[in-house]
Amino acid sequence: MSRTFRVWGAPTPGLVPFLTGLTEALKKSGYTYDPDAQAPDLVLNACSLDDPRPYRRRAQATFVLSILEAREMPGEPVQAMYPYLVRTLANMLLVYIPGKEAHFFTLDLGHYSEPEGEKFFDRLVERIQPMASATLVIKNRFEPDLEPELWDGDDLTRALSEAGKILESWDLLPAPFPIDRILPPEDFRHVQRLYGIGGLSYGNLSVRKDAKRFWMSASGVDKANLRVIGRDILLVKDYDPSQQCIVLSVPPHIEPRRVSVDAIEHWMIYREHPEVRAIIHVHAWMDGVLATQAHYPCGSYELARSVAELVRKSPDPACAVIGLKNHGLTITGRSLEEILDRIAGKLIRQVPMT
Ligand SMILES: [Zn+2]
Repeated sequence: MSRTFRVWGAPTPGLVPFLTGLTEALKKSGYTYDPDAQAPDLVLNACSLDDPRPYRRRAQATFVLSILEAREMPGEPVQAMYPYLVRTLANMLLVYIPGKEAHFFTLDLGHYSEPEGEKFFDRLVERIQPMASATLVIKNRFEPDLEPELWDGDDLTRALSEAGKILESWDLLPAPFPIDRILPPEDFRHVQRLYGIGGLSYGNLSVRKDAKRFWMSASGVDKANLRVIGRDILLVKDYDPSQQCIVLSVPPHIEPRRVSVDAIEHWMIYREHPEVRAIIHVHAWMDGVLATQAHYPCGSYELARSVAELVRKSPDPACAVIGLKNHGLTITGRSLEEILDRIAGKLIRQVPMT
């Protein structure tokens, strides 16, 4: 199936030759250029530092890469550029510094660059491709069938809250970006639907309930304060491949929140490895870990599959530490306490970006 793309917006002078080069490289890699496409697979949204105009997609499946030109990269690149990613309602931001390099910024706070030179545009396409073609599994289906004896949680959910507090005390979960303050309310709602999040916060944790089900932290909640079942902690009961959605059991009296976007990844790991009883994901790193090769977006089927593959290859899948390229770690264990004991003092706060 051929994928389509279009260019949108008002490129600054330095972006014109850049867009031509990128367009040619995309065509070579199998994309079809369609300037009138209503629901293209990929949009190159040309904007500028002075005018970060959003492209308003009609279909969630459209991947928006915002592109702007800068003379140099400021000292704190992520702090300076992340707002442009969010303001233009993009999935990824590319900042081109003519004559030097292109920098990428992703929603999970990823930041890496590609220098100009031989095969520059092909190398950019190699970076864009896995992000743009990934399938997001962020739909949730809530079924109000949670057993009444679980409405207030159980020992496992209490262990989950405890573990959230410990992670918070390690200061590993970066402060969520205040996107609700950067964006007007209607754009904020758009972003929530688009990224499948209740607000940006990084990291998540889960614990196995039984053969099929597991408890998991909700999306965008304060991990140090996981209390209410259906709001802060959700029971994942299945994945429905026909709808590509995560199925959750919730108490009938609660307005549920979405589960963490990485539920699909945890679901795959629990399915395959009955001995895995808990999983923690943090945006930090550890020396000597096995890591995924491509950078896929959070909540994508491709990310889940590549992490599950590495768990399978680990000497002990129930005790694995897997690196997610330019993103963080997924750690499996026999209990949350066992994971925390094992990783205490070994985490490196800064994820290496390559
Ligand atoms: Zn993450």
